[in-house]
Amino acid sequence: MAEGDAPVVEQYIRDVPDFPKKGILFKDITPLLQSPQGLADCMQSLQALVPTASYDLVCGIESRGFIFGAALALATGKGFVPIRKPGKLPWKTASESYELEYGKDTIEIHIDAVTPGQRVLMVDDLLATGGTMDAAQRLVKRIGGTPVACCFVVELTFLGGRSRLAHTPVHSLVKY
Ligand code: AMP
Repeated sequence: MAEGDAPVVEQYIRDVPDFPKKGILFKDITPLLQSPQGLADCMQSLQALVPTASYDLVCGIESRGFIFGAALALATGKGFVPIRKPGKLPWKTASESYELEYGKDTIEIHIDAVTPGQRVLMVDDLLATGGTMDAAQRLVKRIGGTPVACCFVVELTFLGGRSRLAHTPVHSLVKY
């Protein structure tokens, strides 16, 4: 299935108005996770976006990026690296702050999560303004990794996050 052409996936994305605060139309991926067919189709489509041989590790961003990132790592025979919210990772960390569509946040990575030179596929559930993924890529680079591409299940194209991530290829399955 080609990028941006995932009708089976799209039918399982639920719109929740005014969550987590007024004015935000939240794209809820839990119906997709709940559907064996939807989830299988989503994972197959995600895997097809980037050649498996072009990356060594999959990096997922807390928390919904863990679901798709870890499943992709397992499907492709790669390791998985979590990027987490502050204070969650037990070992030595590097951290980056960024603006979110609804607020400001910081994310962290273990400083030894990537062997210098390793190629990393970046995964999250949704691309909005791109601030989260931009900070995640900065973290991976700071510890010596090379982000090769980023993949999302959903992209809110009207927020322009893609242009912020122009230094790597950006792929998404469902575009709004
Ligand atoms: P951004 O940094 O603006 O690209 O925001 C992306 C992150 O925020 C992702 O981890 C998403 O899970 C979450 N997010 C932002 N906006 C939404 C939305 N409208 N629906 C669901 N998740 C969102």
